[in-house]
Amino acid sequence: MAKYAHDHIVPYQNSEEEKKQQVASMFDSIAGRYDFMNRFLSGGIDVTWRKKAIAQLAPLKPKNILDVATGTGDVAIMTWHQLHPDKITGIDISEGMLEHGRQKIEKLGLTNGITLHKGDSETISYPDNTFDAITVAFGVRNFQNLEKGLKEMYRVLKPGGKLVILEFSRPKQPLFKGVYNIYMNFIAPGIGKLLARNKDAYQYLNNSMQAFPEREQLIRIMNEAGYSTTHYKALTMGICCYYCGSK
Ligand code: SAM
Repeated sequence: MAKYAHDHIVPYQNSEEEKKQQVASMFDSIAGRYDFMNRFLSGGIDVTWRKKAIAQLAPLKPKNILDVATGTGDVAIMTWHQLHPDKITGIDISEGMLEHGRQKIEKLGLTNGITLHKGDSETISYPDNTFDAITVAFGVRNFQNLEKGLKEMYRVLKPGGKLVILEFSRPKQPLFKGVYNIYMNFIAPGIGKLLARNKDAYQYLNNSMQAFPEREQLIRIMNEAGYSTTHYKALTMGICCYYCGSK
């Protein structure tokens, strides 16, 4: 049973499908435009956020890394260049996103180091204590069951291993918050409709961001899932945060 209100926020209000299927079809439908829309809507700043989140793993020198909700593989590719591990595995429930990711990895000649598979964060098909580190960028907000996903990632982390989550959050500074809310409520869904031909996807982005447990709340949920030495850092006036936790 999903425990948190945001677990019930879905892309398509009138659909009978469960959240997971809706999320997978939504990402399948925008996969071809996903990377462009990311850069466009964030003005390219998402690249800086990803870099900062990945850098949290550098002291650990992880050799075997899992990138959960890998999508088109951006974090997996950046982690490869930034941390030089032996192996990165990416999993995602959207075959459309994975296919674009595989093409990028092939073009970059990284197929020996990075492999992408269809896989669900809530039932990860690897044994306990497999990975030195796990990354999830803009993924946890889309999980059908956040608690289950966090516990599964904990299970497959090696003792001493580290999870880094990157996720949108809600800015606090009143003036900036007002401008940002107008952008996310009206402008981003409008651009999504125009450029990605999918207003639902960008409306869902805003709805799920508003409902998602962030900052101290997410830290508490990570603690409950078993993680230790948890902490977070707000980036760019709190539009986004990275969260770290160890096993
Ligand atoms: N990590 C990528 C990035 O930083 O660009 C993709 C993020 S995209 C916003 C969210 C991804 O989460 C989608 O590709 C979606 O299919 C995936 N996702 C959602 N629920 C998932 C689950 N339960 N298990 C694995 N992937 C999931």
